[in-house]
Amino acid sequence: MRVEEIYLLTQSVQREREARLQAEKKLSQKIDELSQTKEQFRLLNDSLTQQIAEKVQELRRSDQEHRQLIESVHDIIYKVSPIDGTFTYVSPVVERTLGYMEEELLGKPYNYLVIPDYRGMLHDFYMSMLRDKVDNTYQEFPVLCKDGSQCWIGQTVRLVTNEDGKWELVAVARNITDQKEIEKALVSAQIRLTTVISSSVSAVMIEDENHAIVLINRMFCDLFGLNELDFQQDVPICSIPFRLVAHLFEEPEKERKRVNDLLQNRRVVLGEEVCMADGRQFERDFIPVFRDDQYMGHLWRYTDVTEKYLAREQLRKSEEKYRGIMNNMELGLLEVDNNQTIVRAYERFCQMLGYTSDELIGQNAAELLLTPAAREVVARQQVIRKQGLATSYEIPLRHKNGQTLWVLISGSPIMDEHGTIIGSIGIHYNLTERKQLEIEVAQAHKLAEESRQAEKQFLANMSHEIRTPLNAIIGMTHLLYDTRPSQEQLEYLDIIRSSADFLHSLISDLLDMAKIEAGRVEVHREPFDLAGLLRSLQKIFQMRLQKRPVVMDVMLDARISGKYIGDELMLNQILLNLLGNAEKFTEEGSIVLTARVRKKEATRTWIEFQVSDTGIGIPSDKVERVFQKFRQISPQGHKHKGTGLGLAITKELVELQEGKISVRSEEGEGSVFTFSLPYELVMTEENTPEEILANETTGKVENMTILVAEDNLMNQRYVSGLLKKWGVTFTIANDGQQAVDICRKQKFDLILMDIQMPVLTGYEATIAIRSIDNLNQQTAIVALTASAMLDQKEMAIKVGMDGFLSKPFPPDKLLTVLKQYATEEQAQVVGHVASGVVTHPLDYDRLSELYGDDTDYAASMFETFLETVLTEFDAFDILIQQQRWDDVRQLAHKLKPTLGMVGLSDLEAMMIQLEEMMQAEPDANTVRHLWHTFRYDLMSRQPLLQTQWQNYLIRK
Ligand code: ADP
Repeated sequence: MRVEEIYLLTQSVQREREARLQAEKKLSQKIDELSQTKEQFRLLNDSLTQQIAEKVQELRRSDQEHRQLIESVHDIIYKVSPIDGTFTYVSPVVERTLGYMEEELLGKPYNYLVIPDYRGMLHDFYMSMLRDKVDNTYQEFPVLCKDGSQCWIGQTVRLVTNEDGKWELVAVARNITDQKEIEKALVSAQIRLTTVISSSVSAVMIEDENHAIVLINRMFCDLFGLNELDFQQDVPICSIPFRLVAHLFEEPEKERKRVNDLLQNRRVVLGEEVCMADGRQFERDFIPVFRDDQYMGHLWRYTDVTEKYLAREQLRKSEEKYRGIMNNMELGLLEVDNNQTIVRAYERFCQMLGYTSDELIGQNAAELLLTPAAREVVARQQVIRKQGLATSYEIPLRHKNGQTLWVLISGSPIMDEHGTIIGSIGIHYNLTERKQLEIEVAQAHKLAEESRQAEKQFLANMSHEIRTPLNAIIGMTHLLYDTRPSQEQLEYLDIIRSSADFLHSLISDLLDMAKIEAGRVEVHREPFDLAGLLRSLQKIFQMRLQKRPVVMDVMLDARISGKYIGDELMLNQILLNLLGNAEKFTEEGSIVLTARVRKKEATRTWIEFQVSDTGIGIPSDKVERVFQKFRQISPQGHKHKGTGLGLAITKELVELQEGKISVRSEEGEGSVFTFSLPYELVMTEENTPEEILANETTGKVENMTILVAEDNLMNQRYVSGLLKKWGVTFTIANDGQQAVDICRKQKFDLILMDIQMPVLTGYEATIAIRSIDNLNQQTAIVALTASAMLDQKEMAIKVGMDGFLSKPFPPDKLLTVLKQYATEEQAQVVGHVASGVVTHPLDYDRLSELYGDDTDYAASMFETFLETVLTEFDAFDILIQQQRWDDVRQLAHKLKPTLGMVGLSDLEAMMIQLEEMMQAEPDANTVRHLWHTFRYDLMSRQPLLQTQWQNYLIRK
């Protein structure tokens, strides 16, 4: 061994030892250290354990909180295994929300609660989620709650990996039922709104705040000619540029400005009128929409009101027209409600009463305008108005200035569309001026009435005063004629007589008219001999016309016979007037008085009288006026005396008896006055047609003894002069009392009694004579009175007088009266006077040729002729007067054979002659003459026809 090696070895052993020592030292150090560390570790471990324990404690606590946290959340949290889709965790909230316990759900498939209809959809959804690894989704669906109800769930599902690195679905589900309900309500509200707007008759467009169209309906498109399809998009579209529709407006520029204004101002504007270029009329609404003061857009609404506009225009025009008319017509209109409150006052009404319309409206019309008296009238009218009736009435109104104003109101109810009366309208016509006039007229009328009364009184008084001396004048004149006057005196007498006669008729006319006008004339119906009256008139006028080439004829219907009940006095006066006129105005030719039966009623017979003449006639334009008072129509140059009252009186008298009078006349062609009056027939055995033809008697009265009660000396002398002349014995009483006294002592055949006498009047004396037992209780008393008043006659009859003689009376009137009361022996029959009816026989040969023994046939022919054919001849009068020759010819042709059938062969010949005359232009005068002759003949043959007919009837 080498030293070095040993050395080296030693060295190495050394170093090893040293190292070992070192190591040992280190080890012991380490052991120390370790034991230290061990202690420390133990300490540490202790504290760790402590800490862990605390941590665990803490953890436990946090889990609790966590759980509490999860439980406190309203949302349901659950986990689903992606492998089998079952619930692996469900937060306990599920019980509160859906009513299920956690345990009930764990292990169940995730769609266990989902309403079956939605399960498929959900399955697909989650499958795609898993497939596509979409880690977060949201879904809504309905589920079934434990209690059977349904609720909507909105859930977020996340796809997560768990600690094992596996996929898991974690869902947070929330009950969104309430939200769903709200959503549903919102949707239906929106649908409703959209539907309403779409189907609205108005055009609607809704724009948002940026003017993009949100909604536009069909009507809008139609009105503006837009294509609806352009706007049927879900997304808002742009607004319609105004220039697209500008041309549709009547004034595009103005409209554009207006639309801009509206958009800027954002204020609601309703019912704005818009005129379109094509004449249509729109109404526009602009409604801005705000939410919490924030502008959200706006709505445009247009309505086509063209029809309404036109109707309104029309109404306005017609209202304007009527207002114009009303204003021009001076009619004031006022409308009030049922409480009389003024609803509307028209301009003219306001003017009428001095108020403005504003002052009137709302006021109570009755309180403001009516006087208390007028209020009652109006209240009565209101009652009528409430029955729905219209009336007119006159009332005074108060003008604003206090003056009274008379108005005529025509009021009618105003009804609403259900027919309920809601007020009334009155049309007022200002009558103030007329009222004033009426008052003046009434005053004038009163004055006139007073003066008329005075006049009547005056007339009545004067009648006595004038008639008495006139009576004497006429009477004395007649007496003077008998004193053998010289030729000169005779002429004077004629003048006196005619003047006095005229004066007499004048006064009679005036008095008659006065009586008629005072309504004091009454019809007195008594039996009288109608035919006799007519014949006596004929005689009077035949006598008067003796010196003139005028024939006076009476033609009497054969059926007029016997006594008729009627007012003889009136008929006499009427006929006297008409015949008197005919006499006055006829210089030559004929005057014919015709009477025929016109109509037979149950108890009455209407008799038509006709007075025709061939005189001067009446110009056709004046014919209508002849019946007016004081009218004289005589042609120029023709002067006659008259009052112009005759026909007026005649007309009144005819009408008083229910009759009618008419005239047919032509200048130069004569006149025909016709009137009909009703009479009752007194049926007696002597009333045979023959009786009418009976003779009249005149008689002498020499052996009569008469009492004349008369206070007036002149009259006494007049009457006594006449009585002496006729050889009548008489006694004069100067007053009523004397008359009564004389009557006790001496029996008279007749008493003539003046009415107006001193001591006792004629009435009083008559009453005394009639009531006290005396020799003359039964003696006839005839009143003499200067008054022609009919009421005096009535009075006379009432007190028991038998007759009435109006002064002044001509001698023959007095004689007639005397004869009437003379006894048989006193009145001697002195002769017969022909009836004036000339009768030719019928053509009996012809009749027997025609009818032989067939009396039935003959009777019917006669009956037809008398009842119907006869009146047809009347037509000739007019036809000839109007010179209608062709018609005359035709009528003559038609009627001629009827004449032959009833045996009037000669008249048939005349008809033939008439017919032949018509062949050439005939001479009017000749025709007239032939016709008059024919007519006269026909009338006079009527009694004969009547008799013949009766004969046939008897033989039947
Ligand atoms: P006066 O008393 O004047 O005759 P009337 O009333 O009797 O009044 O007649 C009125 C007028 O009618 C007469 O003035 C006359 O002009 C006319 N008149 C009446 N009757 C006839 C007639 N038969 N012929 C012609 N004119 C007549």
